[in-house]
Amino acid sequence: METKKKNICTEGYSNSPLGAGGSYSIDENGYYGEFGGTYIPEILHGTVERLTRAYNAIKEDASFKAEYYDLLKNYVGRPSPLYFAKRLSEKYNTKIYLKREDLNHTGAHKINNALGQILLAKRMGKTRIIAETGAGQHGVATATTCALMGLECIVFMGKTDVERQFLNVQKMRMLGATVEPVTSGNHTLKDATNEAIRYWCSNPDSFYIIGSTVGPHPYPDMVGFFQSVISEEIKDQLQEQIGRDYPDYLMACVGGGSNAMGTYYHYLDDERVKIISAEAGGLGIDSGESAATIHLGRTGIIHGSRTLIMQDEDGQITEPYSISAGLDYPGIGPAHAFFAKIGRTKVHAINDDEALEAAFEITLLEGIIPAIESAHALALLKKEKDTFKPEDIVVITVSGRGDKDMDTYIKHFTK
Ligand SMILES: *Cc1c(COP(=O)(O)O)cnc(C)c1O
Repeated sequence: METKKKNICTEGYSNSPLGAGGSYSIDENGYYGEFGGTYIPEILHGTVERLTRAYNAIKEDASFKAEYYDLLKNYVGRPSPLYFAKRLSEKYNTKIYLKREDLNHTGAHKINNALGQILLAKRMGKTRIIAETGAGQHGVATATTCALMGLECIVFMGKTDVERQFLNVQKMRMLGATVEPVTSGNHTLKDATNEAIRYWCSNPDSFYIIGSTVGPHPYPDMVGFFQSVISEEIKDQLQEQIGRDYPDYLMACVGGGSNAMGTYYHYLDDERVKIISAEAGGLGIDSGESAATIHLGRTGIIHGSRTLIMQDEDGQITEPYSISAGLDYPGIGPAHAFFAKIGRTKVHAINDDEALEAAFEITLLEGIIPAIESAHALALLKKEKDTFKPEDIVVITVSGRGDKDMDTYIKHFTK
């Protein structure tokens, strides 16, 4: 696919909550430091430019915000609780709060973004929505919002994933979506994304709802913006519960980076807050079976932006591996590549066995069965336990619930 660096319209960024002058915001060309940008075929240029303009317009639009927040409250069930995990706190001798995105409608944070983008699509007069999905969580969230708005929905999904995610495929079909199995490459998320972009090139009137903080500008910024409700709520909830609106530590898992971006958004400029991310170590970063892009990646271009990518000497993308489908991606959102590079975030690679251990631990201590992706974030507690003080406030986002991962968990029952 032909790639081309684009300098598209950037008006409106001075009003971004991250601030044009803020140290961690996107620049006028859609870059976080050296990462990001818009590497798209010429044919999509007009489409992406119109999208950027429409997105900039709704950011400051009170009627958009009212409609969006009404749905977040009455349809998704927000605000999601910020729950003080007493027994987990005792175990790690610090104060741990869980941001419960697992309690959202459809079971994860992805619905926050899908709703924001579909409202934008509606305002732009679009009637056909396309999306990519790996495990199917973003596909289900998108199909859900399409049913809600009465719009056509096509979801691209690798054939391997279609076969192993039977329930989510059936949910999407029941919701009225067409699931297109993708048979190129490895038949997984990377290939589904390639196919969605290919379809978008031939049908540029479609609205492409990307599910994470990846893709060409403005997607990484836009998806982060729609997920920023997570940290907006954390601020209010901490203020109410402890009389102070910031934690000492913030933690989340990073696949493409959307739940992490939402969790960090309003705290990026607050140096009092230490931020720690979990990426998927798979069988270990030296095993050749890993999805630890920040540890192992080199700069390259994937799916429309410049970021860290797992690749071989010839620049061929290497197939990632993780027990968790949601973290099994060879790239990473450009913002997270940047945050790690400049030291704003500390990043641990969490291996499959460490994530499983954390999942069983929180289930038995708190009665919460987390998504296997979220369990990677929870495993950071063990990695960092020696740095916590008893009075520290640690906030961890539980990005989703574990229903979809029961087959994986059952395989690892020890009694
Ligand atoms: C998709 C998914 C992730 C990974 O995506 P991010 O964009 O990095 O948040 C994490 N957790 C759950 C439950 C997911 O469904």
